[in-house]
Amino acid sequence: MYDYLIVGAGLFGSVFAQTVSENGKRCLVIDKRSHIGGNVYSKDVDGIQVHLYGAHIFHTDKENIWQYVNRFTSFNHYINSPLACYKGKLYNLPFNMNTFNKLWNVNTPEETRHKLEEQRRKYHSINEPANLEEQALKLCGDDIYYTFIKEYTEKQWGRSAKELPPFIIKRIPFRFTYDNNYFSDPYQGIPKNGYTAFIHKLLKGIEVKTNTNYFDDRAYFDQIARKVIFTGCIDEYFDYNLGRLEYRSLRFEHERLETDNYQGNAVINYNEASVPYTRMIEHKHFNFGNQPFTIVTKEYPQTYTSSEEPYYPINDEKNSTLLKEYKEQAKLYPDTHFGGRLGQYAYFDMDDTVEAALLLAKEILSEDQ
Ligand code: FAD
Ligand code: UDP
Repeated sequence: MYDYLIVGAGLFGSVFAQTVSENGKRCLVIDKRSHIGGNVYSKDVDGIQVHLYGAHIFHTDKENIWQYVNRFTSFNHYINSPLACYKGKLYNLPFNMNTFNKLWNVNTPEETRHKLEEQRRKYHSINEPANLEEQALKLCGDDIYYTFIKEYTEKQWGRSAKELPPFIIKRIPFRFTYDNNYFSDPYQGIPKNGYTAFIHKLLKGIEVKTNTNYFDDRAYFDQIARKVIFTGCIDEYFDYNLGRLEYRSLRFEHERLETDNYQGNAVINYNEASVPYTRMIEHKHFNFGNQPFTIVTKEYPQTYTSSEEPYYPINDEKNSTLLKEYKEQAKLYPDTHFGGRLGQYAYFDMDDTVEAALLLAKEILSEDQ
């Protein structure tokens, strides 16, 4: 009946469906949630686009991906400039001259490099950082690590920074200019009409069924299409027969406030352990809204259990080894392909997700020529 059954109407499933449909293939997209878009879904609340599953800022250095997404939405000129709040003081992120000025009272790049070198000296003997703590101390020294990183990271991941892989911290850039742009990519913005309108456009003309869980009738779904593209959890697909992969979950607390501007910025991180949430976002600032009210969301990290949403893969050694075993097993199922953050168990940003979906679509289309 269908060429492809796509399990998951998130960004991966939607880009894949769009590309193969454009090439004449027939798809059915199903999602167990009540809406399309997966974690990028945004809900219009009286004119404010609420990012129900956490702040999503599109950014990329890949020109072909930027061109692709611009076929389906136009982006505004939002530049992410989050703040970090530690013990009542606000600092600019990413770590840049504004941050260093507030932290150390230094004014010039030269003074800053000198100060940073002094902070790092103690950790020169670390050659190959064995964990995130060592990596961070080697890169930044004590002040930055203990103010901005340690407590935030341990809250986010629910484990000691000594038990986390070093690569997580490589995502934080360092800058010696007074530039608060969190990303260094040349392309950045928020879809002008929201993420959901963007996903709608990707799925235009494609059959989609929400509130539909693949596992509720797996035998039926497997026989209605030649191939299955699965964007749920790869371990769940195999009924956890090799063991469970670990994920980190989140809880979002949304609140409407009768003020036009609550925190003056879209994203504020709360870096100390005593505040239970990691970030507070004020949605209207993503789209420069001027409504008389506002909506804020607190993001609380939490342990993943099977009744929670799996938001982040935990790519440490143990999980990476298990993932390899699942990938070996997947080779025995040539008519099923795994994609996206959960299917590939990868810490994908949106541009990586789009890229991976376009790549898989290309591979499958050439297989099916
Ligand atoms: P998902 O969005 O998870 O979609 C998978 C879909 O599959 C879901 O809708 C799910 O319901 C469905 N599904 C699963 N199992 C089944 C089943 N059995 N039957 C039917 N349906 C099923 N990226 C950025 O570039 N910038 C950001 O600022 C950014 N911020 C982020 C903030 C947070 C808090 C998180 C968690 C992620 C963020 N990301 C960001 C990453 C971005 O969310 C992902 O790259 C993208 O959403 C991945 O899309 P996906 O389709 O792979 O996964
Ligand atoms: N991080 C941190 N302090 C911050 C922001 C981030 O220590 O103020 C660390 C933390 O370990 C986090 C990682 O950097 O998991 C990546 O954070 P980012 O906000 O870039 O990514 P996201 O959580 O949105 O995927």
